[in-house]
Amino acid sequence: MRIAIIGAGLAGLTAAYEIHKTDPNIHIDVLEAGERIGGKLFTVPFASGPTDMGAEAYLATRTDATEFFHELGLGDSLVAPSGARSQFYAGGQLRPMPRGGVMGIPSSSEGLEEILSEKTRELIDAEALTVPLDWQVGADQTVGALVRARYSDEVVDVLVSALLGGVYSSSADDLGIRATVPALAAALDRLAESGEPVTLSGAVKLVETERAEARKNTETTPVFQTFRGGYAELYEALADQCGADIHLDSFVSAITSANGAGFQIKGGGEGTYDRVILAVPAPTAAVLLRDLAPTAGPHLKAIKLASSAVVGMKFDSAAGLPEVSGVLVAMGEPDVTAKAFTFSSNKWPHLGERGGALVRASFGRLGDEATARMDEDDLVDAALDDLQTITGFDGRAAGLEEIFVQRWFGGLPSYGVDHIATVAAARTEISQVEGLEAIGAWTSGVGVPAVIADARAAVARLLDA
Ligand SMILES: Cc1cc2nc3c(=O)[nH]c(=O)nc-3n(C[C@H](O)[C@H](O)[C@H](O)COP(=O)(O)OP(=O)(O)OC[C@H]3O[C@@H](n4cnc5c(N)ncnc54)[C@H](O)[C@@H]3O)c2cc1C
Repeated sequence: MRIAIIGAGLAGLTAAYEIHKTDPNIHIDVLEAGERIGGKLFTVPFASGPTDMGAEAYLATRTDATEFFHELGLGDSLVAPSGARSQFYAGGQLRPMPRGGVMGIPSSSEGLEEILSEKTRELIDAEALTVPLDWQVGADQTVGALVRARYSDEVVDVLVSALLGGVYSSSADDLGIRATVPALAAALDRLAESGEPVTLSGAVKLVETERAEARKNTETTPVFQTFRGGYAELYEALADQCGADIHLDSFVSAITSANGAGFQIKGGGEGTYDRVILAVPAPTAAVLLRDLAPTAGPHLKAIKLASSAVVGMKFDSAAGLPEVSGVLVAMGEPDVTAKAFTFSSNKWPHLGERGGALVRASFGRLGDEATARMDEDDLVDAALDDLQTITGFDGRAAGLEEIFVQRWFGGLPSYGVDHIATVAAARTEISQVEGLEAIGAWTSGVGVPAVIADARAAVARLLDA
């Protein structure tokens, strides 16, 4: 059997590994448009050591991912964070990150005295007493719409969009509850099913209680982990062990049916393939499927992509940098362009051991292409200026030893309202074509564990058929 995989990001490489593990006799070609493997996983060789410019951690509570990394022989490379807390920059001031809540959505005003106005805090605490939500089980709406209606605009603009934006590069008004805060959607459903009044604060409290219970059982597992040598350890291990021929600089422009006897690929690979796996972003999948599954196109095109940029900076001295893991910036803060800073050398002990300070500045959200397109020098200046405005740390005086600017055009799918239904509809159309699968962050969810699990499940389906 011959299988072609389009895209050598995490999804494509995981699929190749999984196929080879299941049947080493299968011939696999991985066709990658770029000049390197890894996609949004990208480790850069700073002089001080390997440094991630894309994903920099994974959710270690997803034990399936950790087990997979052990299977790849990477168990000894996994490292935990220091446990340093992060801070929040709002109203021109640094404050501790609020505890509790779900993605910045609080269940009460406790601890928010310095962040939200008195009026908004009163609205939060009174929400449980107002007319309950008319929530239908399985319903969806944007996080922004729900929180604006039940609490206030301030909660969305100051808190929720900053937290969601840090993960999804989109504002709360662009993100659906079910795809981005699934625990909250499930809690709202449970309240509705039980016949209890459905309130936002009640649902958030439910999630808080469940999380506290779950944490009791997994206290020794850190919530996040990463790889000592950066994500390159993962994508290189997958490439080494997947038994595939990986073709770089192979931009695939079309896939057609070989008269019902497999698939032909324009732009890479040779001959016909019995099976094809698309492991590319949704808009690219739409283009590549225009002949094979044209009805999937409208669903795939509905998935918007958010662009961002990361500026990685290594300073000779860490003196004056707050001893926290990073800072999230509230949306709309005047005089600040960055949306977040990760103080990587504080967050990860193995990076702190390198000496000096390692800082990642993140820019850009859905609808704001201009920031990700700023001149490289302007991005670096913005990173240094914002860092000084927010923390007082003067990066220029601290000795800027190394800089790397990485732009991620269309880097993250924006999981809007009904995203899950949109993906299901696209997949239904794709499943009509025998021997074809589509995987990647747009189908699975953004996190590394979700992308891996989705790719493995797709391979099981494909080889079973
Ligand atoms: C800045 C940033 C930070 C992130 N941080 C985290 C984090 O800390 N933790 C976490 O869990 N997740 C994080 N993520 C998300 C995670 O990195 C991604 O969800 C995941 O890596 C996506 O993998 P993928 O294989 O689906 O897609 P991609 O990595 O996009 O891979 C797709 C591949 O397909 C190739 N391709 C595209 N078109 C074609 C074509 N026509 N022909 C051939 N090849 C093509 C591309 O070049 C690319 O290599 C982050 C993402 C970004 C952008």
